[in-house]
Amino acid sequence: MERIILHIDMDAFFAAIEQRDNPEFQGKPIVVGGGEGNKGVVSTASYEARKFGIHSAMPIYQAKKLCPDAIFTKGNYHKYAEESVKIINICQTITSIVEPVSVDEVYLDISGSIPFFESKQQIAETLQNKILNELHLTCSIGIAPNKLLAKIATEINKPSGITIIEKNDVEKLFDNMPIEKMFGIGEKTAITLKNLGIYTSGDLGRFPESILVKRFGKFGKKLSYMGKGIDKSPVVPISSSNRNRPKSISNEITLLENTSDKERIKKILLKLTHKTSYRLRKKNASAHTITLKIKYDNFSVNTFNHTVEQAVNYDSEIYKIVINLFDKINLGFRKIRLLGIRLSNLEFAEDPVQLTIFSLYKKRFASISQAVDKLKKKYGERIINIGE
Ligand SMILES: [Mg+2]
Repeated sequence: MERIILHIDMDAFFAAIEQRDNPEFQGKPIVVGGGEGNKGVVSTASYEARKFGIHSAMPIYQAKKLCPDAIFTKGNYHKYAEESVKIINICQTITSIVEPVSVDEVYLDISGSIPFFESKQQIAETLQNKILNELHLTCSIGIAPNKLLAKIATEINKPSGITIIEKNDVEKLFDNMPIEKMFGIGEKTAITLKNLGIYTSGDLGRFPESILVKRFGKFGKKLSYMGKGIDKSPVVPISSSNRNRPKSISNEITLLENTSDKERIKKILLKLTHKTSYRLRKKNASAHTITLKIKYDNFSVNTFNHTVEQAVNYDSEIYKIVINLFDKINLGFRKIRLLGIRLSNLEFAEDPVQLTIFSLYKKRFASISQAVDKLKKKYGERIINIGE
């Protein structure tokens, strides 16, 4: 079966949400991002603001110089995350193979959905209409035989566009596409490629793969594929199952030397608590039941547990319970050989879609702080500070 991939990119996502929710912002230049005063960088600029040359990752003070009358807002990332989840839910009405790649970009594998629609174009229109009617937001859509080409297609016609790239279109398209416009090719790589005489994506596709591999290693092979418009990576759907959800989380430690020294044991229990509760939080979980396991020097084993009504996941909360359990033990003449903590009866904070979105927002903030770091290097420490 021919693969058909659809890529959605929301138009000026954060700014569009602000314009939707604040009618007085409509049709005006809006800049979302930054912190107190002129600190921080632009997260998203509305199309009206882009006309002044304002773009993402630009320092706020610079944006203010370009367009002093623009409306500057720090934004409400919690609200944006909720909108992201709604967009994914809408996409999932078309196919279950939906992969969010950033907070405002989603891939859908619609290969199997085609029979239920008249055409690729109709699928794109259906999605645009649903998103417009339910969320009052616009998006651009690209459809192509793979992810790489679908993303390129989206970029061709923005905002509110629909662009379909067929296999036969690729050659002509790539011959007219400057190499620095290609996704995944950074400034430095573009310079190196130009030095090799590669100016367009088409040039890249025709260039001998072996030389690219010699120059770039593994990435050279990828570059060669990119130049030919080949991308075999699948759309990886968000898991809707619970397979990533453990029943319990536990850690054990065998002591180097058997001991009955309570203070030492408590220190080891603290370390174990840190380790176990960190793993718990990484799963976005909290636990109702905390179990302490003790093996003595005579190899007998005891477990003690305590169940709380309100699930816990902080080190301090868990450690308090562990110590309460430990303090009740009468060691007698026995020494301890092994200690274990088990957290069970778990409760998970969010569903898989929300979890995925949450981690994508974290990623976005990481890239914003990288942009800030770059600017600090360029302009000095004082000038930039990321918004809170
Ligand atoms: Mg976007």
